[in-house]
Amino acid sequence: MSKKKDEQPGFATRAIHIGQEPDPQTGAVTVPIYPTSTYVQEELGKHKGYEYSRVSNPTRTRLEQNLAALEGGIGSCVFASGMAAINAITTMCKSGDHVVCGNDLYGGVPRLFNQIWADLGLEFTYVDSSDVRNVERAIRKNTRMAYIETPTNPLMTLSDIRAISEVCHRKKVELVVDNTFMSPYFQQPIALGADMVVHSTTKFLNGHSDGLGGVVVCTKPEQVEKLAFLQKAAGAILSPFECWLVLRGVKTLAVRMEQHDRSGRLVADFLAKHKKVKKVFYPGLPEHPQHELAKRQMSGFGSMITFETGSRSNANKMLKKVRVCSLGESLGGVETLISHPATMTHAALGEKGRAAIGITDGMVRISVGIENVEDIIADLDEALGAI
Ligand SMILES: *Cc1c(COP(=O)(O)O)cnc(C)c1O
Repeated sequence: MSKKKDEQPGFATRAIHIGQEPDPQTGAVTVPIYPTSTYVQEELGKHKGYEYSRVSNPTRTRLEQNLAALEGGIGSCVFASGMAAINAITTMCKSGDHVVCGNDLYGGVPRLFNQIWADLGLEFTYVDSSDVRNVERAIRKNTRMAYIETPTNPLMTLSDIRAISEVCHRKKVELVVDNTFMSPYFQQPIALGADMVVHSTTKFLNGHSDGLGGVVVCTKPEQVEKLAFLQKAAGAILSPFECWLVLRGVKTLAVRMEQHDRSGRLVADFLAKHKKVKKVFYPGLPEHPQHELAKRQMSGFGSMITFETGSRSNANKMLKKVRVCSLGESLGGVETLISHPATMTHAALGEKGRAAIGITDGMVRISVGIENVEDIIADLDEALGAI
């Protein structure tokens, strides 16, 4: 499998240079952090493009240019967290609008939709978006948006972005794709027809588990305009320091993702052969039911793997034993993080909600980091020995 040809310059070059041009005043190779709330004006109405940092900040501008270029969008807006970015997208809808959503989304998303926006007059329908026909059937006259994640968390189920975007566009519905798991390095939803892409930059984009953030990448000027207005009007912006952390993080996105992917494949192979592991969910395995779509839609398989240990007690036995892997929520950092969806990320779904989409008490999810992979595998082997 070869990586799709980027336009010139290549992905890693864009990650390091777009928005990351040397500071014109001093030549500093890194973008300065502008910890300023306001900007001095020369006379009434005469300023250098910045008036107040809720509205705009030079460090933030640079990050927004960079992330738009990496996703192939025309512009982007960054927010205080992934959830703040998703909330901003939802705010683009009006009371009475309907949204078709995947049924295996990041847990915070249905919480936001059902417990806040449903009370404000939006309607949501959750469907298994791995079959495009389910999305098509759910679209109604008042459907404004389709919202999907691919691959999903923790079941690693894929949705066909191109097929869904074709259905959406035929019905005048905007498609939003959460690309957090793959990062723009392995998956380019806009090139496949998505209208907006959202990320929790907290994960692979920042990559060092040291800051939260979110971004919406846009394909139309009116989307950027609306989201920039929301930054100003609602204020859930990303701080200059955190913008800088993401600018620092994306410089190594390409090499990190290559290593995440190499190690991810090796760990998935190891788990698939292990006697104590009953099933492995990873799109890179030939037995994954959507392996062909994964090869077509993504240029790598990444490092998110879920596996079945058989029971909650088995999961706990192994999770108590890990030493290189750290038991904790989140993903996408340089360190290997391992978690238990049923009691951690997907606890809020309840037993019934989890059963409905196939999340069991024995499932363990791993975000393979970039430590030496033989150390990660030895750690998992030792831990699985406790079962
Ligand atoms: C973490 C995550 C979010 C939420 O992002 P925060 O930065 O934690 O607010 C949304 N979508 C996915 C896929 C995530 O993994």
